[in-house]
Amino acid sequence: MGKRIPRRPLGKTGLEVSVLGLGGFHQVEVGQDTVDAVVDLYLAAGGNYIETARSYGAGASEHKLGRALGDRRNDVILASKTGQRDAEGAWREVNESLEALGTDHLDILIYHCLTEDADVNALATPGGAVEAFRRAQEQGMVRYTAASTHWPLALLPAMERLRLDAVMYWVNYLVPCNYPELYHTVAPRARELGLGIIGMKPLGDGYLHRSVGPAFTYALAQEVDVLACGFNSPEMLAADIDAVCAWQPPEASQLEAILRDAPELGDYICRQCGRCRLEDADVMRVFELEGKFDQQMFDGRPTSAPDYALRQRLCYWFNNQERAMALYQPLAPAVEALLASDCALPTCPYGINVRRKLCLAHTKLTGNPEFPSGVYSF
Ligand code: SF4
Repeated sequence: MGKRIPRRPLGKTGLEVSVLGLGGFHQVEVGQDTVDAVVDLYLAAGGNYIETARSYGAGASEHKLGRALGDRRNDVILASKTGQRDAEGAWREVNESLEALGTDHLDILIYHCLTEDADVNALATPGGAVEAFRRAQEQGMVRYTAASTHWPLALLPAMERLRLDAVMYWVNYLVPCNYPELYHTVAPRARELGLGIIGMKPLGDGYLHRSVGPAFTYALAQEVDVLACGFNSPEMLAADIDAVCAWQPPEASQLEAILRDAPELGDYICRQCGRCRLEDADVMRVFELEGKFDQQMFDGRPTSAPDYALRQRLCYWFNNQERAMALYQPLAPAVEALLASDCALPTCPYGINVRRKLCLAHTKLTGNPEFPSGVYSF
């Protein structure tokens, strides 16, 4: 018998999900033959969580996955998402999803990409999408509901107001650097409420492609039930199956070593260790906001063309720049004063040049297209 992907309970739903989920976004980028081969390999390895969204290729992902699954629909927990905020639009989309996937029900329907409190208000107001979700549940078209986000704090009101069974957000080792609130606030509240946690992007949308083993070692050690991941080929999927099947609960020292040594973090990305929480300016918070702005991916250094292209593709992927800049405004005067002074800044245990990074972060977060002279030297 070949490798079998382990399973975990999904919150209090009663569902048992394979820890490696098959994410549908990448199915847009490849042909039906590849989708068929990926689904066949995934199911053969014991995978049972397949997730897509109505907006992925305007339904193309759902069509391809539905064809690839064929008569194996009941072998999997099938999830899709709608970004519609009103009842009429959500009802239309859930019906389109069912038709495209060739099924009469979804196991999980997900409110897609909540970003603002206004999203939750729109969903929960009379005529909002909550009504369509409830109607779909009452009619047996949907079993459980969840909400996904790329701005984690948006999940706090969602968890209180939308009667969710699960939440979905990033789980990878960039997260504690850029979105530490996920660990401090969002995940603990989700677990208090008994919700399942669907992780996404364990490889950071491909940014952690050099580090598949450490990436899964780290991600599966977090508060998570399933990691939805995209695969553009059976070979990519096979490498991830190997990683999750070899997983053992790591020691705390192993997780520290990953954060210390990860090549993607290097001597630029702030690990939020606490040393830069200064009396005059919360520099660590500035670096966190830089993480929300561009995932701390632009470091002002020359790099290879493929690495540059990957960073350009990913750094603004979630459109959080304006939110980060707005949060930075009250901090900016203290940072300006700090940069104008010649006071000593903390020595970083990860080798980060704190003054240079602060200068870059300030420049990004104030929207100044011109970087001051000196920040390109290293
Ligand atoms: S010392 Fe380094 S890791 Fe710690 S807060 Fe400062 S920049 Fe971040």
